[in-house]
Amino acid sequence: MTAIDNLFAQGVRMVHEEAVDLTLASLRAYWPLHQHVAIAWSGGKDSTATLTLLIHLIDAGHLPQPECLYVFYADTRQELPPIQAAAELIMAKLRERNWIRVIVVHAPLDKRFMVYMLGRGVPPPNNNTLRWCTRQIKVEPMAAALGAAIAALPGTALMITGVREGESAQRDGRIAMSCSKDGAECGQGWYQQVLPEAKGIRGRVATLAPILHWRVCIVWDWLKVYAPQPEFGGWPTSILADAYGGDDAEEINARTGCIGCPLAQKDTALETIIAMPGWSHLAPLAELKPLYRWLRKPAQRIRKAGPERLKDGSLAKNPQRMGPIKLARRSAALEKVLAIQARVNAAAEQFGRPGVDILNGEEEARIRQLIADKTWPEKWDGSEPSADAWLDSVYQDGSVQPILFRDLVGT
Ligand code: SF4
Repeated sequence: MTAIDNLFAQGVRMVHEEAVDLTLASLRAYWPLHQHVAIAWSGGKDSTATLTLLIHLIDAGHLPQPECLYVFYADTRQELPPIQAAAELIMAKLRERNWIRVIVVHAPLDKRFMVYMLGRGVPPPNNNTLRWCTRQIKVEPMAAALGAAIAALPGTALMITGVREGESAQRDGRIAMSCSKDGAECGQGWYQQVLPEAKGIRGRVATLAPILHWRVCIVWDWLKVYAPQPEFGGWPTSILADAYGGDDAEEINARTGCIGCPLAQKDTALETIIAMPGWSHLAPLAELKPLYRWLRKPAQRIRKAGPERLKDGSLAKNPQRMGPIKLARRSAALEKVLAIQARVNAAAEQFGRPGVDILNGEEEARIRQLIADKTWPEKWDGSEPSADAWLDSVYQDGSVQPILFRDLVGT
């Protein structure tokens, strides 16, 4: 009898036996090699499937119960409310087991998504040069917490992740390492890449991705059909499958992450949730994505007038690069976010539904303080011209071409 025959006996037929069998085999192979076991959990579909299956395998006696299983949950403060609610319920169930230690990690105040953007003035992240968010609000806090947890303990740790090889990546014969590919969860590949290098844990952490080979339909089956059943743990995971688009999920290739994630083409998960009964009051959150787009536009930002000398005396490659958000625009965006949140919460109260908390009083006060203090990111002081101003063109070699028709543009 294979392990899976055991696992999914009792009249419940699992259609993906080999996949789960392989997962169990990989866990069994690496489990005994480490003194500590930890799991990096983002609250998204892949890591939630990994987490709940892992607990089931331990509860059912297919894996030895570790002395302590560390569960690290990265709370970005920007999660979709039903997904955050599911995470809270899962954490409550995890805490029922005295051998599980749940550690919720947050970025330090000044590095949180809203504070960094609206207080410090760093533009919303994008897929190109300015991808600051994942590392800052997920990976670094997670790595710091793992370092703190095992620093004083002897031995090594096995860090389990929910990294999956996307289906198109499988076809290409390579592993998807970015959250922008294959509908993968934001940051999942980063855990793999970054954690072993983090301070305090260098050389002491091995990572294992036991569902690397799972196709997305197996994830759905586990979250929607099996995990919620009492014999598999009774986990509140079906909302996750629904948020990703349920049966259509494979086609729409949705992923969750921060509300209005500036890196995603569309807010598919939010749109799906708003259309569900009981969550229509979240509709104002759809205004966040356009707000982030607005903040990236030149009229809201300043730019280097160029040419710019670097510390080593060389000329900057992009002498007129666009930079941070103007102070007044940050204030305007702050008011808009607060208004969106207030509208959601007023409707939530009216209908007796859960509200949203993406910007709390402490964060708001810090943003206001940073704006009042005229805070700019490094190498900027606010004296730079508006990014939508007409300027002489400055080239990489330092040469300047004056603008034509200077009289017409009034500079
Ligand atoms: S979901 Fe989007 S905004 Fe949030 S950390 Fe990931 S890439 Fe950044």
